[in-house]
Amino acid sequence: MKKTAVITGASRGIGAAIAAAFAKAGYAVVINYRSSEAEATALRDSIIRLEGDAEIFKADISVSAEADTLIAFARERFGSVDVLVNNAGISELGLITDLSDEEYRRLMAVDLDGAFYCCRAASREMVRSHSGAIVNVSSMWGLVGASCEVAYSAAKAGVIGLTKALAKELAPSGIRVNCVAPGVIATEMNAHLSESELDALADETPLCRIGQPYEVAEAVLFLASERASFITGQVLSVDGGMVI
Ligand code: NAP
Repeated sequence: MKKTAVITGASRGIGAAIAAAFAKAGYAVVINYRSSEAEATALRDSIIRLEGDAEIFKADISVSAEADTLIAFARERFGSVDVLVNNAGISELGLITDLSDEEYRRLMAVDLDGAFYCCRAASREMVRSHSGAIVNVSSMWGLVGASCEVAYSAAKAGVIGLTKALAKELAPSGIRVNCVAPGVIATEMNAHLSESELDALADETPLCRIGQPYEVAEAVLFLASERASFITGQVLSVDGGMVI
C-alpha cells in the first residue's frame, strides 16, 4: 500500500511543489488549501493524469477542529497518515509599532498554532501505528530574525522549538520530526518585492540567486524518507547559503 502524505497549504508555491514531489515519489497526497480551490484542483488533476493518487481538502489549519478533520480525512481516504508537512503560512511586513493585535494574532494562528494543531492531530495517528515523519516549514528568519518581520520571525522560531521538542517526545514512538528553513524562494509570498529588490536579495545570497519551490520540496522529501531514518529534531537550511 502507498504511504500517505498530508501537505498543508499545498494549493500554491512551495506546498504545491512538495505535493508534486511526494506524488512523483509514490506517495498518495492530500493537498490542503484554504481558499485557492481552483489551483488545488488543477494540481490534483495533474497528479492523477500521471497516475498518482491525490485528493484535495479545504481546511483552515489555524482552526483546531479543521486541522483535526484534515488528518481524519487523510486516514479515512487513504488508510493512514505516514507523513505530515506543515507548510501553510502567511507573512506580514511592517514595523512592530504598526502591527495590530489582529494582524499579530492571525499570523501566529496560521504559522504557529496551525502547525501545532496539525502535529497534534497527526501524532495521534502516528503513535498508534508507531511510525511516521513530520516536516515543518520554518524560515531563515526563524533562525536569525528579520527587521520588519518580527511576528513572522517569532512564529517561525516557534516552529523550530516545536520541531525540537516534538522530536524528543515522539522519538520513542518511532516518529521523526524535522524542519526546513528556506531562504528567499520564488513564490507569491514574495510577489510584493520589485525586480530590483529581488535582485538585491539574490546578490546577498552566496549562491547568487533566489531559490525555486522544487528545491525546498527535495529537502522535505529527503527528511520524510527512509534515507533520513536516523535524523530527527534537525533544521535543514535551504537558502543558498544565506545563513551560515
Ligand atoms: P504562498 O505562495 O503564499 O502559499 C501559501 C500557501 O499556504 C497557500 O497554499 C495557501 O492556501 C496556504 N495557506 C495560507 N493560510 C492557510 C490556512 N489558514 N490554512 C490552510 N492553508 C493556508 O507561500 P509560500 O512562499 O509557498 O510559503 C510556503 C511556506 O514556506 C510558508 O510557511 C512560508 O512561511 C515558508 N517560507 C517561504 C519563503 C519564501 O521566500 N517564499 C521563505 C521561507 C519560508 P490558499 O491559497 O488556499 O489560501
